[in-house]
Amino acid sequence: MRIAVLGGGVIGVTTAYCLAADGHEVVVLDRQNAVGQETSFANAGLIAPGHVYAWASPKAPLILLKSLYRDDTALRFRLRADPRMWAWSLRFLANCTTARNRANTLRKLSLCLYSQKVLDELRGEAALEFDRIASGLLYLYRDRAHLQTGIANMAMLNDNGMALQAIDPDRIVELEPNLAHAKSKFAGAIYAPTDESGDCQTFTERLAVAAVGHGVVFMLDHDIRTIEAAGDRITGISTSKGKVAADAYVLALGSYSPLLARPLGIKLPIYPIKGYSVTLPIEDHHGAPTIGGVDEANLVAYARLGNRLRLTATADFAGYDTDYDAGDFAGMLRVALDLFPTAAAYDRPSYWACLRPMTPDGPPVLGRCRIKNLYLNTGQGHMGWTMAAGCARIVADIVADRPPALDIQGLTVDRY
Ligand SMILES: Cc1cc2nc3c(=O)[nH]c(=O)nc-3n(C[C@H](O)[C@H](O)[C@H](O)COP(=O)(O)OP(=O)(O)OC[C@H]3O[C@@H](n4cnc5c(N)ncnc54)[C@H](O)[C@@H]3O)c2cc1C
Repeated sequence: MRIAVLGGGVIGVTTAYCLAADGHEVVVLDRQNAVGQETSFANAGLIAPGHVYAWASPKAPLILLKSLYRDDTALRFRLRADPRMWAWSLRFLANCTTARNRANTLRKLSLCLYSQKVLDELRGEAALEFDRIASGLLYLYRDRAHLQTGIANMAMLNDNGMALQAIDPDRIVELEPNLAHAKSKFAGAIYAPTDESGDCQTFTERLAVAAVGHGVVFMLDHDIRTIEAAGDRITGISTSKGKVAADAYVLALGSYSPLLARPLGIKLPIYPIKGYSVTLPIEDHHGAPTIGGVDEANLVAYARLGNRLRLTATADFAGYDTDYDAGDFAGMLRVALDLFPTAAAYDRPSYWACLRPMTPDGPPVLGRCRIKNLYLNTGQGHMGWTMAAGCARIVADIVADRPPALDIQGLTVDRY
């Protein structure tokens, strides 16, 4: 079967690879001149089932409310005249019960754990190097009460396949000697020994090369204008460089998926939530982290990606705006200097901002929809790097009419 994958981010490229490995003839369409140039370009790099908690939680409504009048660097919830944002927010609030938070978190957890296994298989199969560090991740707490909440939440994950450990400051320093100078700042941490880190963009680029080896054709610089349909079938994709037709199509356009799906009568409640990242050269500096983690008090994530230090932060409700200025990064750089003061060339930052394709409940949207030859693989939100391989394999299974290894209940578009 000839399949067109719409989108060459980590989700689209991983899906294309899995489809081609199944023997399909695959083309990937993307508007950029290379793969992985938008949200997959500079994320935190954490492969983090241990940080999978659904954002919609009983505490979230108050946190959103407070951020309306506080100048918060972690969360910038702004009331905008945007009906899609209001509709998304109402659905988000409906998911803020204890029961829904638990169900959504556990659904995401099983997908992340499955994905980690598939990622390992792909890594072996395609001999991929992507600055991977597989020594676990540290979730750092500065405050005792906050740590206790983290420990209480951890039980839900540990009862369902994780092996998270609550650790004291001495153990933090054993695991991350470069935090020795900051030991007194921590109440403790949660250590996720099986979590990992690695460069998502490098992975995407190298998997694309492996995909070409399986016959995948990348049609870059193709801006998708509309998806053309007749009845319940897609007839072609209209792009800036002409029409592209295939037997089947996979929608993997991240935050832009709902815009192109809507004219087909498919309403995807995916909203862009902007995040910021900064990358610093480590070069011959000493004191860079040896494993990645998150400063839970400031919600700053960090990872060492080879000879670079990557930091990310902030959930900003700014619509499709991806602009930034140096002030957007001041908070996360302060945290980095506090944790790893000598780690990198702090005077040579590379800034980036991009959009998390967030569903209001948390899990992505996978599989079939009302258009018979269209498959969905989108809405991975804050966990798209962690979930990519699992989602790709599931969608390839559905295309092949094979039962996926994971129950997809709660992952399809029918839930909305
Ligand atoms: C600050 C930040 C930190 C993050 N940290 C992590 C992390 O540590 N771990 C983790 O698991 N996840 C993380 N994420 C989430 C993860 O990066 C995303 O979920 C993932 O990159 C989404 O991949 P995607 O392929 O769906 O989207 P994208 O990478 O955005 O790909 C979509 C592609 O579609 C193309 N496209 C869009 N519209 C069109 C069009 N009209 N025509 C043609 N092409 C089009 C784009 O060019 C793009 O290449 C983070 C996200 C952010 C913002």
